Amino acid sequence: MKTDGSHPETALTCVEELAERYPDIPVEVIFKEDLLRQGMAWSPSALEIAANFKRKAYFIFSFDMVPISDMEQNEHSKAPEEIRLVGGPYGFNPVVVSVRLNPGSPYRIESEEGALVLKCGSHPIAQVELQEVPAYYRRTLADGKRLPDVIPAIEWGYLLYLTVFRLCQYFSRQQECLYCDINRNYRQHRDAGKPYSPVRPVGEILEALEIIAASDRDSRAYTVTGGSINATLEGKSEIDFYIRYPEAIEKRWPGRWISKIVVQALPKEDVKRLHDVGVQVYHPNFEIWDERIFSLYCPGKAAHIGRNEWIRRILDAAAVFGPARVIPNFVAGVEMAPPAGFQSVDEAIASTAEGLDFFMSRGISPRFTTWCPEPMTLLGSDRKGAPLEYHVRLLRVYRDMRVKYQLAPPIGYGETGLGRAVFSVSSFMDVLPSSGEE
Ligand code: SF4
Repeated sequence: MKTDGSHPETALTCVEELAERYPDIPVEVIFKEDLLRQGMAWSPSALEIAANFKRKAYFIFSFDMVPISDMEQNEHSKAPEEIRLVGGPYGFNPVVVSVRLNPGSPYRIESEEGALVLKCGSHPIAQVELQEVPAYYRRTLADGKRLPDVIPAIEWGYLLYLTVFRLCQYFSRQQECLYCDINRNYRQHRDAGKPYSPVRPVGEILEALEIIAASDRDSRAYTVTGGSINATLEGKSEIDFYIRYPEAIEKRWPGRWISKIVVQALPKEDVKRLHDVGVQVYHPNFEIWDERIFSLYCPGKAAHIGRNEWIRRILDAAAVFGPARVIPNFVAGVEMAPPAGFQSVDEAIASTAEGLDFFMSRGISPRFTTWCPEPMTLLGSDRKGAPLEYHVRLLRVYRDMRVKYQLAPPIGYGETGLGRAVFSVSSFMDVLPSSGEE
């Protein structure tokens, strides 16, 4: 097989060869993974059209493959949050893809007679649909802040994203996760004039949600998230800082949305507190299964909590929430990042499959974010993600293991199945059998 180059012909050949080799993974899913891995470029006229739709909010990380200072068309201020690919020569079922900007990508969105088309070189791949701007995106808070700067919606409007702390206290080379640009992304947008503040007050979140609750019918879940707190923030520990948000939201709108939270793996008594205030899904993100690579690429997590303790706490959380409501994220592909990552797809798949098996055999339901090397991260310098074959094989392992352990669809991600899934930063929901949302 030709390897996945960034040249359009090579990229196309690679996708088509994988589609032939793995006919149980739909071709639109393979393209989606390649777009997540390699990003996409935009023509000037396509960008002008996109600027009229819901724009990329940079809700926590950049997920771009160039810093905004290198975006000659100011793509960051015009590109959409997500695109939906349909039709075209391959007859795509709809797939929603997060927009990761990369002017050097073999994939490019162009406009043809006013319609948007995804191309790979000169080859058309699919038609491109964009999401209308939700009515609340045009509203402001009393102090003038724009709603999408406070609570953006992703996953085609399904998920409200509440980044309440835009920095992480793992901030040095010895501590920060090597694939993460949370702190640098905050700084680049602040330097570009975006009205970001590190901490979002609880009152501001409630004010924004009041507007959203009154007008929006698409959002079904919210995630409270942000960087890790290892010392204190505003005098509060990680649990004391973050718990205030779901507590206040669930008091005001009990059960209105599926309530999710991303914080570190916390001791059982803290996890109980989250459960007691109404959090429904807990994401103690594990990121990388392999012990050696976890220690090297997540040095802060390894030093402050440690891998074994992290695992023990995930199991404790399953006893509190019920295993199906504990969903640790894996950064899919980062275990192949040089210099210390696996060098072969076989090794990487074997390792991550072992982690999936460990959790899924206990009813715990991991999920993925497809890794792309963001240039402001310590692993971003070579701008090459894991091979596309890795992502295709991982999706097969994930799908088959869910069947093996008879796991119900993940909670808080919307519908599963090709043409119905809305999760945009990995295809794990696209490859599961179709079902209604829980
Ligand atoms: S814990 Fe790691 S992945 Fe999470 S925000 Fe901090 S540096 Fe990023």
